[in-house]
Amino acid sequence: MSKRDYYEVLSVAKDANPADIKAAYRKLAMKYHPDRNPDDKSAEDKFKEGSEAYEVLSDSEKRARYDRFGHQGVGNQGFQDVNDIFSSFGSIFEDFFGFSGGGSSGRVRRGADLRYDMAVEFDEAVFGVERVVELERPVRCDTCTGSGAKPGSGRTVCRTCGGQGQVNRAQGFFAIRTTCHSCGGEGTTIDKPCEDCRGQGRLNKKRKLTVKVPAGVDSGVRLRLTGEGEPGPAGGPSGDLYVVLHVKESDRFVRDGLDLIVEQPIGIAQASLGCTVKIKTLDGEADVEVPSGTQSGDRITLAGSGVPHLKGVGRGDMHVEMRVVVPKKLTKEQRELLQKYAEISKEDTMSLPGGFFHRMFSQE
Ligand SMILES: [Zn+2]
Ligand SMILES: [Zn+2]
Repeated sequence: MSKRDYYEVLSVAKDANPADIKAAYRKLAMKYHPDRNPDDKSAEDKFKEGSEAYEVLSDSEKRARYDRFGHQGVGNQGFQDVNDIFSSFGSIFEDFFGFSGGGSSGRVRRGADLRYDMAVEFDEAVFGVERVVELERPVRCDTCTGSGAKPGSGRTVCRTCGGQGQVNRAQGFFAIRTTCHSCGGEGTTIDKPCEDCRGQGRLNKKRKLTVKVPAGVDSGVRLRLTGEGEPGPAGGPSGDLYVVLHVKESDRFVRDGLDLIVEQPIGIAQASLGCTVKIKTLDGEADVEVPSGTQSGDRITLAGSGVPHLKGVGRGDMHVEMRVVVPKKLTKEQRELLQKYAEISKEDTMSLPGGFFHRMFSQE
């Protein structure tokens, strides 16, 4: 099956700006909108095709991939169902038409998603943690089970729209359908509002939620708690709650993805002679062999001692970076020993073959 070029579908130039693309889609959507073309299969196909083109060209990232690789670059299956178009671009149709354009079938609306920002300690992010958080957020009213009607009373068909949820309104050249204001598009009105929620069907309530933070997360990771967002209007399904994590820094480790970097001070004698140092790791302690002749900035890697992979397989590494500390004060004995060392080593005339100038000029 060959697909038409998206720019051609929307009749815009390759370098069209986002406003042009939106305007072109608006024109097309006005023309082929299913509400204006009932039972017209070819109009519906045009509407789907145009929506698919708009979905790609209105997204700068997808558009760039499409420009480079064509249809294969975006791998778009297109819209199978016009309702998917309304749920993808609902807000745009509100701009275009003054209503979400979901037809008059009274679609069930989903509640809004919520965001909650949560700070976690460094170690909690590494090993995972379970937190109980208390959130105040809208929840479904138990008294009326979200209907907004006083228990025992019901809902009656809206007198304004006769249950359609939408009314016809003249606007410019068109008679367009807009959401009925009396019933808010639901097609029914409440006889007696529920006293607990004043007919809203929802209440602000404090609720405790358990958030499971998996091992290996980093700042910016979003955890989705399905169905914990705002309840949908008129008993519709709830949205989701997104917990956005903010990981605090560690005073011991610097994190680089799954790897950890830790600084380890060693003395000049330890660096020269080699030594064993105890390093605090995420799991406890490790003995690290420092070879003789270690320089400041040399790294020793402890494989698999880093942060666990979020997917549960494997761990990053830990890099121990050596800092050779030159003493600032010397005792009499230390001074004498170092003077002796300097004499033996002829440090005043030192020109080591591996030194700076050698490296500069030999290029080996
Ligand atoms: Zn209620
Ligand atoms: Zn109504």
